[in-house]
Amino acid sequence: METVRTVADLRAHTSRWRIQGLTSAVVPTMGGLHDGHISLVRRGLAEADRVVATLFVNPTQFSPSEDLDAYPRDEARDAAMLQEAGCHVLFAPPLDVMYPPGFATEVRVTGLTDHLCGATRPGHFDGVSQVVTKLLNQAQTDLAIFGEKDWQQIAVVRQLARDLDIPTRIVNAPTVRDGDGLAMSSRNRYLTDEQRAIASALPRIMQDTARQIAAGAAPATTTAAATEALLAAGFAGVDYLEARAADTLTAIERFDPAIASRLFVAAHLGQARLIDNIAIAP
Ligand code: AMP
Repeated sequence: METVRTVADLRAHTSRWRIQGLTSAVVPTMGGLHDGHISLVRRGLAEADRVVATLFVNPTQFSPSEDLDAYPRDEARDAAMLQEAGCHVLFAPPLDVMYPPGFATEVRVTGLTDHLCGATRPGHFDGVSQVVTKLLNQAQTDLAIFGEKDWQQIAVVRQLARDLDIPTRIVNAPTVRDGDGLAMSSRNRYLTDEQRAIASALPRIMQDTARQIAAGAAPATTTAAATEALLAAGFAGVDYLEARAADTLTAIERFDPAIASRLFVAAHLGQARLIDNIAIAP
């Protein structure tokens, strides 16, 4: 695996692959890699001939009060994991390659970003949209692979790719979980052992709640009770716990098997803000 740091060096690979008739996939990451990220690389390898992973902790998607400085950074470890997984190229640009002096363009997806993390992390999806638009244009791969753990992010990326005529096909990959069901996340490493034990309540309560809603319980009362259960389990706060349509992200009043729906959560535990989402299905 070769590591490249400039757009020209990245495109030297992807354009050569295209000339050779090889397909390619890009896997955007912020590092702190775990098996969830590696599953995206494997999905890329299953769907394309060549895979590029990107490693860039994008400052524009963090608010001043968030964990940009604390975010895990260990490029050597991440590169070793990617190489082991069979990734072909790592694109790890420095800040001034992504945002050189004079950079002045914003990218904002409206509507989908009104809810969930869009409402609780103002500006977050503007930063995500900005960096993903750049990464897709920089890499010019056939596919881009994103994890369903960040469901709203995938919805936003699909919308911007459609609206901006970016030809890259956006592919979803399922959430990879630890043995107790907790979604793997770079931020799980902020948890102490005690907090990690408390965190296992999150997937359990999510599953129970989704099952009750699928069985006909009203989402509003069911999610209110589940929020109390999370707080009782030791979570410090719940930004949201909501049932929404999977595509449009509009709130659902009742479960309707004809409309794919999901349960979305963001909750605080210690230094970590954990997010997850699961299907609501009978
Ligand atoms: P991040 O490095 O957290 O920005 O995530 C990079 C990509 O990995 C995004 O597409 C995430 O949705 C995906 N990802 C993160 N955690 C998981 C997981 N547990 N399972 C699958 N994909 C994940």
